[in-house]
Amino acid sequence: MYARFGLTLALTRACNLRCAYCYAGAKTRQTLPECFGRKAIDRAVRSIAPGGLLDLGFFGGEPLLEADLAARLIDYAEQRTAESGASLSLTLTTNGTLTTEQAWAIMIRPEMELAVSCDGLPEIHDRYRRDPNGSGSFERVRETMSRLLASGKDLRVVMVVRPDTVEALPDCVAYLWGLGVRRVEPSLDLWSQWSRSDIGRLTQVVRKLARIWQKGLPDHGITWFDEKAAYLARWPSLRNRCGFGTGELAVATSGRLYPCERLIGDDPPETDLALPGHVADGKDFLGFTEAAPRCQSTCGGCAMMDVCNTFCRCGNYIRTGDVTRPDGLLCAWNQACLQETARIAAEAMRIDGTVL
Ligand code: SF4
Ligand code: SF4
Repeated sequence: MYARFGLTLALTRACNLRCAYCYAGAKTRQTLPECFGRKAIDRAVRSIAPGGLLDLGFFGGEPLLEADLAARLIDYAEQRTAESGASLSLTLTTNGTLTTEQAWAIMIRPEMELAVSCDGLPEIHDRYRRDPNGSGSFERVRETMSRLLASGKDLRVVMVVRPDTVEALPDCVAYLWGLGVRRVEPSLDLWSQWSRSDIGRLTQVVRKLARIWQKGLPDHGITWFDEKAAYLARWPSLRNRCGFGTGELAVATSGRLYPCERLIGDDPPETDLALPGHVADGKDFLGFTEAAPRCQSTCGGCAMMDVCNTFCRCGNYIRTGDVTRPDGLLCAWNQACLQETARIAAEAMRIDGTVL
């Protein structure tokens, strides 16, 4: 039984955008049958120890195209967790272009941890995040974020970072903060080719970005450094939350099970990425085999093992085809983020007169 179970439901394969770097597979009208969503919640609740937490997330396509379905499944999860004495937390990532009454009602739920995808400056965002007619989506996303922030809704912005946009990242973060966003989560495009020189530019940008993070504290956050600071502080709740099939899984619209939503893609019938079984078969989500830890030949002896987020198996898989083996991009990025966070923490302690 798990103290926390992370369940992500892919509500639909449809999306009103066609982002060039989308990894969510072909866009079709296939939606998650409600009975599959309810069954997944039942199984997750039965996998949680007394007093535990169900962390329920919604994924797509664009999940707010199925806002009514999301609302019904949230109601059901509330009922089931209340009956079993578990708590419930909710997360949803949206492209920020849908503001129907139903979509709005989901986004502004006080307990909803809302993430909006926006790559920062309008010209950077619109380079890749376009609709099927090729028009950029930035203005619609900005309007949605402004409305949400004006209504008092806290939100996190997920920003995709690619080799050709990495140098704009500090300006993009500063721009989003200027719009009133307080927390940003840059997300490396792991499906892209990153050359050695791209990785070198990324590490330079990490240094610059860390200075921006330092100036923004404590009102603003950048996950790359927030997470490293939490790891350095040995803050348990933020450490190693990658369950990858054990304590964490995703349900595709077909009802097939995946260790992480990032691996669903086209959800082809023959794939070795899916977990055994189907959501409709089984009483709980116990009994899956834990994935192997990072391989010793790559990371053995590294002093950063505990604070390096390459425990994230899907990131490793996307880069190397092996869940246990990170590549040079993940390694250099982790090292740069940790070094900068540790340096800033040490500076802060010296200013406070604290001896490290
Ligand atoms: S909004 Fe999300 S699901 Fe839709 S095309 Fe863009 S990345 Fe893919
Ligand atoms: S990826 Fe690099 S920094 Fe992370 S544990 Fe492995 S060797 Fe260390």
